[in-house]
Amino acid sequence: MKLLSKPNLAILGGNKVIGINQGAHFNWPKITDEIEELVIDQLHASISIYDRSSIFEAFECEFARLHNRKYALLTNSGTSAIHSMFDALNISPGDEVVCPVYTFHATISPLISLGGVPIFADVDPYGSMSLEDLVKKVGPRTRAVIVTHMWGYPCRDIEKIALFCKERDLYLLEDCSHAHGARTNTGRIVGSFGDAAAWSLQGQKTITGGEGGIVLSDRRSIYNQALLLGHYNKRPKQEIDVSDPLYKFYLTGKGQKLRAHPLAIKIAYHQLGILPTILQGRDSNAQRFRQLISEIEFLSDIMQDGSSPSWYAFGMLFDESKSNGVTRFEFCEMLHHEGLSEVDIPGSTGLLNELPLFTEPNELFPTLFGGKLPRQRDFKNALSFKDRFIKMPVWAFTDEAEIVEKYLIGFEKVCRAILEDRNFGQNLRNWRKET
Ligand SMILES: *Cc1c(COP(=O)(O)O)cnc(C)c1O
Repeated sequence: MKLLSKPNLAILGGNKVIGINQGAHFNWPKITDEIEELVIDQLHASISIYDRSSIFEAFECEFARLHNRKYALLTNSGTSAIHSMFDALNISPGDEVVCPVYTFHATISPLISLGGVPIFADVDPYGSMSLEDLVKKVGPRTRAVIVTHMWGYPCRDIEKIALFCKERDLYLLEDCSHAHGARTNTGRIVGSFGDAAAWSLQGQKTITGGEGGIVLSDRRSIYNQALLLGHYNKRPKQEIDVSDPLYKFYLTGKGQKLRAHPLAIKIAYHQLGILPTILQGRDSNAQRFRQLISEIEFLSDIMQDGSSPSWYAFGMLFDESKSNGVTRFEFCEMLHHEGLSEVDIPGSTGLLNELPLFTEPNELFPTLFGGKLPRQRDFKNALSFKDRFIKMPVWAFTDEAEIVEKYLIGFEKVCRAILEDRNFGQNLRNWRKET
């Protein structure tokens, strides 16, 4: 066999595509002079808003309009927004909610403090809840289903799941925290399918105020309950009808306060205004990466044709049977050595079924749970997805063209080297021993 010469890869001592003096590769959110001015304005206008007025009203109106929903309620976090949705369904201890096993924990963790039981469903090969497994997980105690549009890719089965929930008289909730403005392949915006939907406005999210969240619904009853959970006095008094049996609770609400911060919402409102620009900028960059990986046998794309993801991340699946002996970890290590430090194998987002909160909630909430919950196992698709997944951020702005170019070059360089040598993995390990 012909002995190949050692390729000029940074992992083997060669030149890096991106030098270490480049600075941060990805800055989110982009804090412009305009945002600074807006925050200063808000600082002088009001730093606590008691009712649905000024910046809260502006954000809620516009966000509801974008999704063609009747009611919008800002909260202090996405987790609070999700908690508000569960609380509004009057979950009783022992009631079950079906949730994808592969999502961020906050999609379902607020359910536990209500005594609800998460039932995990496997995902489709692209990382979102599958109708096929959902159907098997619904039982007599199921009250609701919650779907996540993971990494900004609309759940492929969402329309079928919505129909199924309607048929079976189950509430459908959506966690859209990755997917601001994403649309399915039928052009429908995510967050417009469920009985209620929640978004995080946390620092990393597409529309962000640093911390914050929002719930949308068409149902007055869900809105009123959410209102009473996180707000008291002025806002529920002004908004809940005097004839409503819940009206009498306006002064205290349910005893919690989950109100948003006006400075955060001022920032988020600016982001909402530039959402079309953000999505368009990300999409054109993401399409270039899609084009690149379409030529790489060991990488596959997870976008559904015709859909419009929000590109919270660019996701791809690594196939170790086609990568000439290179593992997913080695592939990412090679990219990191080239300076592509934003390429990532997600650590904290994985399968939820073994987390102690979901197996032994009785230790934290002894009055709600009589004992441990039954173990839930056998999530083949989710495990396979998690074990092959690689992500990176998607740049949105035209002044980031240079870094995008370098990432494309770095990917191409590493992928070419791997594809040129059928024994690349073994050779790489030998070369690394020598260097
Ligand atoms: C960020 C996030 C949340 C929680 O939102 P916070 O604003 O951080 O509380 C929930 N679900 C998903 C999918 C998220 O990414």
